[in-house]
Amino acid sequence: MDFTISPRIEDYRARIARFVEQVILPLEADRASYDAHENIRTELLDDLRARAKAEGLWCLQLKQETGGQDLGLMGMAVCYEEMNRSIFGPVVFNAAAPDDGNMQVLEKVGTEAQKAEWLQPIVRGDVRSAFAMTEPAPGSGSDPGGMMLTTAQKVGDSYVVRGRKWFITGAEDADHFILIARTSDDPRKGLSAFLHRRDTPGFRIERRIPIMGPEEHGGHCEVVYEDMVIPAENLLMTEGDGLKLTQIRLGPARLTHCMRWLGLSKRCVEIAHEYAQNRFAFGERLSKRESIQMMLGDLAMQIELGRMLVMKAAWELERGGFARKDVSMAKVHVANLLHKAADTAIQINGARGYSKDTPLEWIYRYARQARLVDGADEVHKMVLYRNVEKEGRDFWAWDVGA
Ligand SMILES: Cc1cc2nc3c(=O)[nH]c(=O)nc-3n(C[C@H](O)[C@H](O)[C@H](O)COP(=O)(O)OP(=O)(O)OC[C@H]3O[C@@H](n4cnc5c(N)ncnc54)[C@H](O)[C@@H]3O)c2cc1C
Repeated sequence: MDFTISPRIEDYRARIARFVEQVILPLEADRASYDAHENIRTELLDDLRARAKAEGLWCLQLKQETGGQDLGLMGMAVCYEEMNRSIFGPVVFNAAAPDDGNMQVLEKVGTEAQKAEWLQPIVRGDVRSAFAMTEPAPGSGSDPGGMMLTTAQKVGDSYVVRGRKWFITGAEDADHFILIARTSDDPRKGLSAFLHRRDTPGFRIERRIPIMGPEEHGGHCEVVYEDMVIPAENLLMTEGDGLKLTQIRLGPARLTHCMRWLGLSKRCVEIAHEYAQNRFAFGERLSKRESIQMMLGDLAMQIELGRMLVMKAAWELERGGFARKDVSMAKVHVANLLHKAADTAIQINGARGYSKDTPLEWIYRYARQARLVDGADEVHKMVLYRNVEKEGRDFWAWDVGA
C-alpha cells in the first residue's frame, strides 16, 4: 500500500487544520463555551456548523451525490485526525459519532426512499440520530446475536416493538433512530434493523444516564419501547439482516473512532511537549530530562503504530475486504493509546494537567469509554484469538499481488 496522500486530500487536511486552529481552539479554551454536559454550547455549535458548511468542510465522508466529498476511508483517516485536534472538532464538521456511522450505513444500505426520508435530514444537519442496540442485563451487550431481548413482532403490515435499551448515545437530542430488535430465534438471522422517529407513540426516554466523562450532545440514554408500532417500510435491508447491518455499520465506525482518537492523542503530546519545553525544575528544562523524552518518544511511536493499523484497515476496506482483524487490532491499540496519552500528558503537566486549564482532564475521563464502546478490548482479542486458532501461522500471511 501507498502512504502518500493526494493534493486534494492535503487541501482538505490543511483547510480543516486552519479552521480548528483559528475558529475552534479559541472557543475550546473559553469555559463560557461549554454546556452543562461539558460539550460545546448548541448556539455556538450551530454557528460553527454553518461556517464549516459554507467553507465546503461538511460531511466529507459521504459520496458526492449524498452531499459529501467522497474522501474514502484513507482520506477520512487524514482529515478526522485533524478535526479531533480539538475536543469540539468532529461534531462541527458532521463527522462525530453516532451521526457519522448512521449516515454511512444509511448511505450504503438504505433504499432511495429511505435515504430521502431518513438520511438527508441528518446530512443537512436538520436532525440528529442515534443507534439503539445495547440493553441492560440480562439483555444484549457484548453478545447481541445471542442475548437480545427487545422484540419486533410482525402484525399485518407493521411491527410492534417491545423492550428496553441503554447507553444510546445522543438519544435526548435525536429525531431519527436505528433500532436493532429480535424478529426470530434464528441464531444468525434472528435480528432485524428498523428506523423510527423519536415521537413515535410507545417510545420514550426513561433517563439520561449520568456518566464519568463529558457527554456527547443528547447524552447516553436508557429508552423504553412499549408496543411501539412502525410500518414494515421502516425495515432496513430485509428481515433477519440486523446483525449484518450492525457489522456493516460497526467496521467503519470503529475505525473512524480510531481516527478521531489519534487526533486527541496527538493533542495530548502537543500540550505535554509545550509544557515540558517551557517548564524548569532543578535548573533544567523538563524536555531535557531523559525520562520525559522517553515518555513523549514512546507516545509518538505508539501514535504512529496506531496510524499504520488504521491506514491498513482503511486500505483493506477500500479495496472491498472486511478487514475484521485489522479493525479489531486498530480499535484495541488506539483505545489504549488514547488513555495512555492523556495519562502521560497529565503527569508531565503536573498540577496544571489535573486542572481544567487544559483539555487533558476532559480527554482522560472521555478516554475510559474507548476501551468499552463498539466492543470491549477482551471481545476484540477473543476474535483475534479465534483467527489465530483457525489460521495458525497464516494469521500473518502476506497478500501476494498479481
Ligand atoms: C459512552 C458509551 C456510549 C455507548 N453508546 C452506545 C450507543 O450509541 N448504542 C448502543 O447500542 N450501545 C452503546 N454503548 C454500549 C456499548 O456498545 C456496550 O457497552 C458494549 O458493547 C459492551 O456491552 P456491555 O456494556 O453490556 O458489557 P458486557 O457485555 O456486560 O461485558 C462486560 C465486560 O465483560 C468482559 N467481556 C465481555 N465479553 C467477554 C469475552 N468474550 N471474553 C472476555 N471478557 C469479556 C469485558 O471486559 C466487558 O467490558 C455505549 C457505551 C458507552 C460506555
